[in-house]
This record gives sequence, structure tokens and C-alpha cells, in this order.
Amino acid sequence: MDLEKNKTNVLQEISRVAREAGRSPEDINIIAVTKYVDLNTTKEIIALGIKHIGENRVDKFLAKYEALSSDDIVWHFIGSLQRRKVKEIINKIDYFHALDSLNLAKEIQKRAEHPVKCFLQVNISGEESKHGFSLEDIDNVINTLIEYDNITIVGIMTMAPIDASDEQLTYIFKTANELRLTLKNKELKNMPFTDLSMGMSRDYKIAIQNDSTYVRIGTAFFS
Ligand SMILES: *Cc1c(COP(=O)(O)O)cnc(C)c1O
Repeated sequence: MDLEKNKTNVLQEISRVAREAGRSPEDINIIAVTKYVDLNTTKEIIALGIKHIGENRVDKFLAKYEALSSDDIVWHFIGSLQRRKVKEIINKIDYFHALDSLNLAKEIQKRAEHPVKCFLQVNISGEESKHGFSLEDIDNVINTLIEYDNITIVGIMTMAPIDASDEQLTYIFKTANELRLTLKNKELKNMPFTDLSMGMSRDYKIAIQNDSTYVRIGTAFFS
């Protein structure tokens, strides 16, 4: 693995795709998903200038956080989170990307010591194996979350099926962005809906074309 080369390639490609889509590359936050790699490799990618670090397991997150928390890092928890583990991480992370149930929201509201920036995870593809609220759930979810002053909903997170075609990817990411805009326009308390967490190594291009502001990149950096 040539980390420096991978990093340069990913950043160049993201800049190119952003400009082609008429967007400014600075508006796209690049999260290095370090779940595949150890502490040393995580330090290397940080030394190469990546500030956003994402993990999807509580134990691995804590190990890296303890070792690196003095650095100037923005910490993202991107995986599904069990309710009983909320208290272990919720006051350490900067963003939580996988708010996918009201039970979980209730626990975050209870344990958080300040408002936590969360993405609502929405299952747009309808794939059974995917986490997230369905589109039909959203009105009810919003009505409940509006009461939770320790949760700030910054936007929508969605994931596409592993074998999605370009047409399916476009449909999924476009639908997420339209939902975000509809909710943003409601100007709800604690719910700016300014952001979209979508796009991984194999589908970030179409995510960026559909206004994604946080891409979560693992394989393209670390292989
Ligand atoms: C692993 C993971 C990623 C990164 O996926 P790559 O295909 O390796 O870029 C992004 N988001 C989530 C939620 C993940 O679990």
C-alpha cells in the first residue's frame, strides 16, 4: 500500500468530480475510514493532512481516540451503535452518522452532555439488510426528535447496495438530497439539515454529483 499516492489520487479525483459538478472541492469533507488499519497507519493518514477520522466499532474507536485525542482531529462514528454502548462514546465524538432508531435517540438524549451532531440514517434502497429509517417513518421521527435538545440533526446519511448500478445510485442519492432539502426548508429547531453523509470508495462520484458534503472513504485510501 502506497498511502501517500492513494491519498493524492483520492483527493485529486474528488476535486475533479466536484468541479465537474459545479461545486467547490472545499465543500466536501473527506472522512478516512480507518476501520481496516492500525494506529500507525491512522497516524500516517493524519500526517498526510486528513483531519476527519471515521470508525464503526466502539472498541476500535476508543483505542484510536485514547491514543490520538490530543491531535486536531474531527471524530466520526459511522457504524450502527448499540444502545448500551452510547455512553462510552457519545461525549467523545464530533459526528454520529447512524442514528437509525428512536430508542437510540432517546438514549443519546439521556447520555449526551451537550448537543451531538447526528445524521439521520435513511434506508432509501429498501434493502432488508440495511439499517435506517424508511421514508414513511420520517415525519414521525422528526416529531419525536424535535423534543430532544441534545441531538442536532445536521443531515441525512444513506448507503447504497453493494451492487447498485449507476442509475440506482443516482436515484438513491438524489432522493436523499431531496428529502434533506424538504426538511431543511421546514426550518425546525435543532435540525439544520445542511449536510449529506453519502459516498464510499466505489460510489463517491455519484454522491458528490448529488450534493454530498461528507464522503466516507476506506478502501481507496488503505489498499
Ligand atoms: C467501511 C465503511 C465505509 C468505507 O467503505 P469503503 O468502501 O472501504 O470506502 C463507509 N461507511 C461505512 C458506514 C462503513 O462501514
